[in-house]
Amino acid sequence: MTSKKIRVCPRCGSQRIHTAKSAVSGWLVPDTYYCDDCKYSGPVYVEIEADDAEQLRKVINGESSED
Ligand SMILES: [Zn+2]
Repeated sequence: MTSKKIRVCPRCGSQRIHTAKSAVSGWLVPDTYYCDDCKYSGPVYVEIEADDAEQLRKVINGESSED
């Protein structure tokens, strides 16, 4: 079983995170990542195993069955 890496939002765990290239061309500037769900924007994202994505969302959203 191969695990696939995916990018998720560091704030809410959403997989709906994407980059926006800077308008400045010719310079090495860091990409900015945007989250469609919580409107996070910043220079970092979280890369996790795809299998862990659902669990991460539960933890972030406080939906864990562990009480
Ligand atoms: Zn988010």
